[in-house]
Amino acid sequence: MSNDNAPPLYPLFADLRGRTVLVVGGGAVARRKASALLQAGARVVVGAPALEPELRALAQAGRIAHLPGRFQPAWLDDAWLAIAATDDDAVNREVAAAGQARRIWVNVVDDVALSRFQVPARIERGPLQIAISSGGGAPMLARLLRERLEAQLDDSWAALATLLARQRGRIRERWPEPGARRRAFARLLAGPLQGFLRRGRHREAERLLDAELAPGTGNAAATAGSVALVGAGPGDPGLLTLRALRLLNEADVILHDRLVGEGVLALARRDAELVCVGKRAGDHGTTQARIHALMIEHARAGRRVVRLKGGDPFVFGRGGEELEALRAHGVDYEVVPGITAALACAAYAGVPLTHRDHAQSLRLVTAHCAASLDGLDWPALAQERQTLAVYMGVAMLDTLRTRLIRHGRDPATPFALVENGSRPDQRVVVGTLHELPAQAHRHAVRSPALLILGEVAALADTLHWFGDGPLSADSPVHRSTAPQAGTAKPAPAPEPALERAA
Ligand code: SAH
Repeated sequence: MSNDNAPPLYPLFADLRGRTVLVVGGGAVARRKASALLQAGARVVVGAPALEPELRALAQAGRIAHLPGRFQPAWLDDAWLAIAATDDDAVNREVAAAGQARRIWVNVVDDVALSRFQVPARIERGPLQIAISSGGGAPMLARLLRERLEAQLDDSWAALATLLARQRGRIRERWPEPGARRRAFARLLAGPLQGFLRRGRHREAERLLDAELAPGTGNAAATAGSVALVGAGPGDPGLLTLRALRLLNEADVILHDRLVGEGVLALARRDAELVCVGKRAGDHGTTQARIHALMIEHARAGRRVVRLKGGDPFVFGRGGEELEALRAHGVDYEVVPGITAALACAAYAGVPLTHRDHAQSLRLVTAHCAASLDGLDWPALAQERQTLAVYMGVAMLDTLRTRLIRHGRDPATPFALVENGSRPDQRVVVGTLHELPAQAHRHAVRSPALLILGEVAALADTLHWFGDGPLSADSPVHRSTAPQAGTAKPAPAPEPALERAA
């Protein structure tokens, strides 16, 4: 919910050329505001009893106008915008009130409540501008982000933006359809153009662009649709690959699973069509057929389709089936791997999946339903000094425990059960195999959760670093155990044999 500390804001870039902007105040802050406004071509009027030296010089040179004395509402008469930059709270308030009465946009420096508009932190690369705002709630954060982007975006962006702006008319003529234009841009940016500019070889860059813009240059590949099967990772957008990010930025349509985090979807191109094709328990077959049909239909219509899956598309993700369907219909595809839940959950729980002293191998297992459990090689799974990463197992923990112990796994084998791995609400429950179902039930662990079972799981206690520390048998319970879909089932009374073993 918003409040006065961080109101919802609508960003805009204003053309102030020749328009009067009033700056109230004559000190260093007013000077900074005045000079930024001058850069934007505004007609700057500074109102203050006295001006600091630089402002005075500007006034003497006729670059700004000076209104001497204390603020009076009539100063706003010609203004389109006003900035109150005095250290006198009463004056700032008067400017805000007078602006309000005249419907003139007023910014009071460092005062969100009094401001009707805010000035963002910004990065400029020629005509390209990035404005960053925290809504006034955390300006430092916006500034820090600005520093980072400053470091990342070199000056070739300015040259590129200038070059493309100069050819804007020809570009639109060459690719009238926005989708084709975007693809052409993506291709241009992926090519050597920016590299030329970065190395100061502007003529070569221009020649390259010229060739692209020449009518009749064949670009058959740009009009054929295709599907990228992309791994979105476990939820933290920072775990996306750069390649995935680029494809999300170029996509026309994104068909995503329910498991894909909102933070990841927020990185998609703004006008990409987002379609949630997530499966709910019970409707797998029909939904899968529909997903195949959608991918094929969109690709045939010439669209760039991203089929976005949680984790990695080839780990319990039906990626193989989807590619088979695409191949059968002659649709072009590529695959971008993602960080699968086992890797992410292990990392974010501080559990090395292999360790010279504890585990020499790792098995990825799905425990989706009783039938999938029957298909597993239990004697092999029960062996020591290996790690099991069990997907989709929340509802099957009791069966897992019973079978593993029956096939010889030590009931004292440590586990770490990671719920919402890598996400802000991650929880890690630890204990021993013997108490696994009871612990999961006690802390009401819900899907999505990944079970890590093996000697290495004990390291979560010492190596954890993300979120709160692991919950164990003595941790207080914070969540009600009222039954919910996808929640760990209560453990039946332990079998007598287990009681003895434990
Ligand atoms: N292709 C996905 C797995 C899909 S199966 C991947 O590579 O990760 C869905 C199962 O993955 C869930 O039931 C859960 O066991 C696991 N999972 C996916 N994301 C998870 C997360 N953020 N935290 C914990 N487990 C997760």
